[in-house]
Amino acid sequence: LGRRLNQAIQSVNGQTTIDEPALDAVLKSVCAALLESDVNVLLVKRCRDRVKQLVLPQLEEMQAKQGQGGDAMQGNKAKQLIHKAIYDELVALVDPGDSAPPAFNPVKGKSQVIMMVGLQGAGKTTTCTKLATHYQRRGLKVALVCADTFRAGAFDQLKQNAVRAKVPFFGSLITLDFLASGNRTLMHNAHMMYSYTETDPVSISLQGVQKFRAERFDVIIVDTSGRHRQESELFDEMVQIQEGIEPDMTVLVLDGAIGQAAQDQARAFKDASNFGAIIVTKLDGHAKGGGAISAVAATNTPIIFIGTGEHLHDLEKFSPQPFISKMLGMGDMQGLVERAQEMALANPERQENMMKKLEKGEFTIRDLKEQLNTVMGMGPLSKLTSMIPGMSDMMGGGNEAEATRRMKRIAFIFDSMTAEELDSDGTIFRDPAPTVSGALTAADKGKAKATPADENQDPTNPLGLREPNKRVLRVARGSGTTVQEVEELLAQHLMFAKMAKRMGGKNGLMGKMAAAR
Ligand code: GDP
Ligand code: MG
Repeated sequence: LGRRLNQAIQSVNGQTTIDEPALDAVLKSVCAALLESDVNVLLVKRCRDRVKQLVLPQLEEMQAKQGQGGDAMQGNKAKQLIHKAIYDELVALVDPGDSAPPAFNPVKGKSQVIMMVGLQGAGKTTTCTKLATHYQRRGLKVALVCADTFRAGAFDQLKQNAVRAKVPFFGSLITLDFLASGNRTLMHNAHMMYSYTETDPVSISLQGVQKFRAERFDVIIVDTSGRHRQESELFDEMVQIQEGIEPDMTVLVLDGAIGQAAQDQARAFKDASNFGAIIVTKLDGHAKGGGAISAVAATNTPIIFIGTGEHLHDLEKFSPQPFISKMLGMGDMQGLVERAQEMALANPERQENMMKKLEKGEFTIRDLKEQLNTVMGMGPLSKLTSMIPGMSDMMGGGNEAEATRRMKRIAFIFDSMTAEELDSDGTIFRDPAPTVSGALTAADKGKAKATPADENQDPTNPLGLREPNKRVLRVARGSGTTVQEVEELLAQHLMFAKMAKRMGGKNGLMGKMAAAR
């Protein structure tokens, strides 16, 4: 969805005059992208009408002032107007705002029960453990209860996850279809921890919750079974469990790839369980996500987290603005800061140093090198880089193999830099040093010449250098990469350094974070 939408919105940039037909054309491609991503038809229509209603009068007013002929100022202003209107509408789609149920923030010192509901395969069991890990890392005492006695292996799955996450769990070893199979060997082989030979999910969940309440756990997460068929049975059981354990929060787990069916499904669950939050899973890979957006709108319930992979740590806090910014390719600073905080937990000393530097607003090339090294150890690159403006394209646009390949080449580039260069703020590569005409290869020359007046516009030469700096050329040669690659990396560093400067100091984001620590 992100890429399509981005293209649609970028298409405004190709226009000089923005009049009604131009606006219609942009909105048409934005709508096509939304529909293709399974956002509900009526929502898309509403979104289009609202943007048009808002933008058109302002466009006309601007045109009346400027007279005919698109001058650049009018064009730019109009583009910003459209961009912002679309952004606001999309944010509104995933943000139920004040009418939504209050946010749920478990605290230490009292037992809070979270119940997960959703169809089979939505990702409930996986998400239970992710959520447990999330709260555990925030210092809460967390336990899991498996109330899925329907599916064979349900308890084993949760148990395996729980053991990996080091979370205590409670559940029944014996599932209904295990009993039906007449097979008894599993019972003797499996080692049980808190298992209980009971098949009634209502009774099991109640026992589990009571046990963990008595042991003063802060967060007790109850996994329930989901079924494709026998829907009314599923809902009855769900309601009974809910009445039994009286959860503080019921969470609907929705498969991000579910498509147009999401809206009806979410409504049905809302009617039966009145859940207070949504977690959308499988938003990694090729999930379109539009169904999930529609589900929010249909039930007026906020998304609290999104699942972005099969592993324990693939859970991201959700908030509307960064989500939409990221979708529109505007980067996700908040997500990045959260990731950085998680990395800080993983390697406290190194990150402490980094934070100190950032607080001062410093960011050398060596800092970038170290950050990229840390990132390498943090799982899928494509996911992390998608949070950083401009980084995703540099890393192959979300393709993992490509990202890894480029990362290797970047490592070569760093290796070819001298200590002086690494410890510099990067300006050393932009000094008006004598260029090396004649020493360029034909390929380098082709790239260097393609430099237009506006340095921001040319992706092949982001630094706007007419001919490569001598150092750049040396590093490119030494690392077996191209001048373009080295310049891209330097441009990326420059962007980070600027960001560090903005975030640094007492009043910057980092300074504030330091003050909060
Ligand atoms: P449940 O039936 O609702 O308990 O669903 P499960 O937790 O068993 O998940 C079903 C499948 O979806 C499993 O193969 C999970 O690994 C996978 N899954 C769950 N969440 C995610 C996610 O965020 N991303 C991806 N790629 N797979 C997921
Ligand atoms: Mg399950």
